[in-house]
Amino acid sequence: MDLNAFAQWVAAIDLSAFSEPVRLSPLFFEGEPPVLFPRLRRWAWRSLTAALESAGASACTGMLPLLWQTEPLAFAACRAARVPFFALDEGNAAVAARAVDTAGLDTILIREASAVAVANDFAEHNDRFPTNWILVREFGAAAVSEMGSIETSQRLFREIHLFPGVPLLVQCEARAAAHDASRFHLAPGLSIRHANGATLVSSDGDLPFTDLTIDELAPAGTCECGESLLSL
Ligand SMILES: [Zn+2]
Repeated sequence: MDLNAFAQWVAAIDLSAFSEPVRLSPLFFEGEPPVLFPRLRRWAWRSLTAALESAGASACTGMLPLLWQTEPLAFAACRAARVPFFALDEGNAAVAARAVDTAGLDTILIREASAVAVANDFAEHNDRFPTNWILVREFGAAAVSEMGSIETSQRLFREIHLFPGVPLLVQCEARAAAHDASRFHLAPGLSIRHANGATLVSSDGDLPFTDLTIDELAPAGTCECGESLLSL
């Protein structure tokens, strides 16, 4: 199934068929139509928890677009890592900068495409600068090649999300420390297989998709952590 067909399928899901509570969030990163994507309420953003733990994060500011409805997921992931979470709109760099300066926030969760503008604000007005950045790239978006002052940070964990709050590709500590913008691990809870020349991605059951066609995925060697890498 390709992504357009998947969107049509999602729009037709009978929510009353779920036997346990689900959380609804937008299927698209922006605009209309407002197709809502159901995921089991117990689904967890495990790669975010892992990134926070491996970075030894002390506190996390979430600045993803409010439209994405990812705050409950990020809050739960931070709680699992025992890291306080502070949600802001991505346009609110001034408050984020004050929080970094006065409250010792060391980790920012933000869209890759918005991060440089926020970082420039930090660099202009603050002595402190976040140690860790968790950068979410929308599926289909180009990588941001010039990251400016963010490159002085210790770790840049990049994730590519298939839908808002649904990681397809994620990075470990080694990739984050290397500031690698192009090579990733498959997100936890997903599997990949090849059939009839197509590359198919499935959830292990907590998300409602099977055999989505994502032919752009390509093998990209082996990471220092020992796991295989993919590029997109
Ligand atoms: Zn790795």
